[in-house]
Amino acid sequence: MKKITVPPSRSKTVRLALSYLAIIMVLGVAFSIVFYVTSSNELGQQLAPPSLRNNAQHLSPGPDFINTSGINPDNGTSETAYLQQRVDQGRNNLMHKLVVLNIITLLLGAGLSYYLARRTLEPIEAAMDAQSRFASDASHELRTPLTVMQIEIEDALRRFELSKPVKKLVESNLEEVKHLKGLSEELLRLARQPQGLELQSVWADEVASIAMNRVVKSAQAKGMAISDTSPHVQVLADKQNLAQVIVILLDNAIKYGTHGTTIHIEGHTDNKHAYLAVRDEGPGIERDDLPHIFDRFYRSEQSRKQYSTGHGLGLSIAQTLINQQHGSIAVDSTPGKGSTFTIKLPINREK
Ligand code: ADP
Repeated sequence: MKKITVPPSRSKTVRLALSYLAIIMVLGVAFSIVFYVTSSNELGQQLAPPSLRNNAQHLSPGPDFINTSGINPDNGTSETAYLQQRVDQGRNNLMHKLVVLNIITLLLGAGLSYYLARRTLEPIEAAMDAQSRFASDASHELRTPLTVMQIEIEDALRRFELSKPVKKLVESNLEEVKHLKGLSEELLRLARQPQGLELQSVWADEVASIAMNRVVKSAQAKGMAISDTSPHVQVLADKQNLAQVIVILLDNAIKYGTHGTTIHIEGHTDNKHAYLAVRDEGPGIERDDLPHIFDRFYRSEQSRKQYSTGHGLGLSIAQTLINQQHGSIAVDSTPGKGSTFTIKLPINREK
């Protein structure tokens, strides 16, 4: 079984180092070309006999003027040929030295670029680590008191005979506490997103079925069915994280979907990729909202009004997880008809 570990900081460092190296090499090669052209012109003029040089001043510059037989009849063809040979030799030597110089620049530049890229990324990564540790600690600290509050409020609602207005108030508080608890859990999930995923060969239909089993109860509670015709194909992915992405899409399909409809998990393959889609027959997504639904904390106006649960983090988490697996997610939606979220992942044909 093929396993690929993707250490993020290393690949980022290599990418940045390659950009630095590309800049160094473009400048180096451009400088070499200019140097070669001007030097070989000079060389041609320096090696020409004075009489030829005087004549050359009236001609276009460049070593090729020596080839122009008949420019100066005082010089014999043998002298011209000799000079031409010297010029050619000089040009070849120059070209050879510049090529060697560029190869040395490439080798030294590669080392230097990698060193500089590491120095550039280290403080950025340290700051990002500190930020995600803070978010993780803060949401962890919030979760415990919120859970205690939820249990106590639910207990109070069960045990005490409350008047109607008080009961309504307490129930509304309970909803808010649940909402905050959900938010702190999503933030925790976001902060703890794995940095280096271990990609291996997994069966797409097996992962789809794991995801489906996790949400089947909430679908039934809403009178919805899930049909699974996902393709039997091996993809290169991280099993747990791919399952989590499909669960996020299914959760949304249930949350926004219409009572009594069916959610379809389906897909197809081409030469290199497998496409796994979650299609619902829900309200669809407005054209204006489509470009933003993968942004963090984005919720459509409609969702804010109609659905109290949700924090606008699910799709952004799903997209990050799929990108880390060298895949992508696309959405296609028609308002009033439904939405299809399609995950694209590389097929693993190695057995
Ligand atoms: P959340 O569902 O918590 O609001 P998401 O990031 O999962 O956050 O989704 C962002 C927004 O995209 C949602 O608020 C909703 O407007 C829209 N959306 C996502 N999935 C669907 C779907 N299956 N049908 C309709 N709208 C959807």
